[in-house]
Amino acid sequence: MTLPAFTPPAPMTLPIRGGDRHFPVGRLFCVGRNYAAHAREMGSSGREPPFFFMKPASAVLPLGGDLAYPPLTADLHHEVELVVALGEGAAIFGYGVGLDLTRRDLQGAAKKEGKPWDMGKVFDHAAPVSALVPASQVPGIDKGRIALSVNGEMRQEGDLSEMIWTVPEIITELSRYLTLLPGDLIFTGTPSGVGPIQRGDRLDGMVEGVGELSVRVV
Ligand code: MN
Repeated sequence: MTLPAFTPPAPMTLPIRGGDRHFPVGRLFCVGRNYAAHAREMGSSGREPPFFFMKPASAVLPLGGDLAYPPLTADLHHEVELVVALGEGAAIFGYGVGLDLTRRDLQGAAKKEGKPWDMGKVFDHAAPVSALVPASQVPGIDKGRIALSVNGEMRQEGDLSEMIWTVPEIITELSRYLTLLPGDLIFTGTPSGVGPIQRGDRLDGMVEGVGELSVRVV
């Protein structure tokens, strides 16, 4: 039996609303272009098969709060999303409100060159997530308002019913690629209206029946 060579970082966790347990975060899967209006603003159309990218658990900023503006970008974008949290047997454990923050300039440059755009999506604080609400306390997520304001001005507004791929469809499709595990979080895509944020901005996101999430860019 050997000892660890260093103290590993503390595991990322999220609070669970109304409970005395927490949710240990595993992997973050994100769905691209899952609302038609956002797909159009990003230059595609129609119901293309869902595609996925990942962020590391270390990118989670639990409960929002102060968000450090990331380095190497001059075009940090907000994307408010419904987050699905998986529990035992990869069944839906609960839901949260998340931000899939994006260094759009890095992403765009990588896309143009046909290179991976991970570094547009992966950085410290790239994924603020609210407390999770157990699925048993959410009557349904097939519809409900999803919105984000910046400094009190509405920027993104949509309805979960506008998702091109539903939550069960996303889970089914993702399961074809790999084994989903308890602790996995799935960011289910963003409605239209994504745009840049600056230091000093305050972001307020919400998903009806799930919760709210606020961050201040510092
Ligand atoms: Mn997104």
